Amino acid sequence: MAEKRDYYEVLGLDKNASENDIKRAYRKMAKKYHPDNNPGDKKAEEMMKEVNEAYEVLSNPEKKSAYDQFGHSAFEQGGGAGGFGGFGGFGGMEFDMGDIFGSMFGGGFGSRSSRRNGPQRGNDVSVNIQISFEEAIFGTKKEIQINVTDKCDTCGGSGAKPGTGTETCRKCGGTGQERVVQNSIFGQMASIRTCSTCHGTGKVIKEPCQNCHGTGKERKTKKFEVNIPKGIDNGQTIRLSNKGEAGTNGGGYGDLMVTVYVRPDSYFVRKGMDIYCDVPITFIQAILGDEITIRTIDGEQKITIKPGTQPDTVSTIKGVGVPNLRNPNQRGNQVITLKVKIPTDVTARQKELLKSFYGENVTNEKKGGFWEKMKKDFKGE
Ligand SMILES: [Zn+2]
Ligand SMILES: [Zn+2]
Repeated sequence: MAEKRDYYEVLGLDKNASENDIKRAYRKMAKKYHPDNNPGDKKAEEMMKEVNEAYEVLSNPEKKSAYDQFGHSAFEQGGGAGGFGGFGGFGGMEFDMGDIFGSMFGGGFGSRSSRRNGPQRGNDVSVNIQISFEEAIFGTKKEIQINVTDKCDTCGGSGAKPGTGTETCRKCGGTGQERVVQNSIFGQMASIRTCSTCHGTGKVIKEPCQNCHGTGKERKTKKFEVNIPKGIDNGQTIRLSNKGEAGTNGGGYGDLMVTVYVRPDSYFVRKGMDIYCDVPITFIQAILGDEITIRTIDGEQKITIKPGTQPDTVSTIKGVGVPNLRNPNQRGNQVITLKVKIPTDVTARQKELLKSFYGENVTNEKKGGFWEKMKKDFKGE
């Protein structure tokens, strides 16, 4: 088999070609080699095949990046790109078991050749979105915009110029099957497979749609509203069925995969279903106790600081944590760590008071009236 030509070379492009360059080059080549402009020209038919194949890869961002990285091997089974093996092999005339089984049992074996000719599901499309911490807790709706290959609006995906019909495929005479003879070490072997021109339908379009050049597809910008459920976590993916790219030969749409990234909050930190935060208190509050107002994700709430609270004491508010994705009524807790702040800037009088407190504390820890004195002197701090 002849060495496959580089896809960029086929379209007369260099590797830095933009999406528009690729589109433009494809249109030019498709016009040049289209069977209607070259009746009975086998060479032109081969060129057209090559051009279509190159465009199918280079116009698809996922396939293009695999090709850029791994070359043709990206699309061979067991090739370097892993996961791209399935759709490849549209080029040469390899003889493989799939050809035989594909035509005997009507396809569905998932072989390279039966996939090439049979219905092929459209590609999944992946997008990332960013939401705030609060949106992740309470859920939200986001509009997303994607550029995808969809059915051509002009021809409704048929590839035929509106108002023109189909005609019997010349290659297979309308049977939808073709006979392929291969030379092998066992001598000549013939096999029947799905016609590569009409993809088994027995019909071909008379005049290609001018908008999509007979591919039945065009690039479109689509908008979707995505419902983001309560409790979604950073890095989780939402699958929107059939919102990806259009399939080929009657195959269904791929899916749209939306991966959600949650912006970190300056105050709250999520750990599983609980929300953690640090709350600063003064050493006076720690000693005397107090009632303070803190932030929860649901709003403000009062908590009581017990007299004699130690630094880094943990306090829990139940039921104001992260909702369970499957059962949003079930929520985690808020876990508060009380951070005692030690003042670094004290007045001469405060120093006096602290010294006398230290003296009293050392000499007579249980002396009556101590707490009353502290409260009075530190009021307003
Ligand atoms: Zn069209
Ligand atoms: Zn045919």
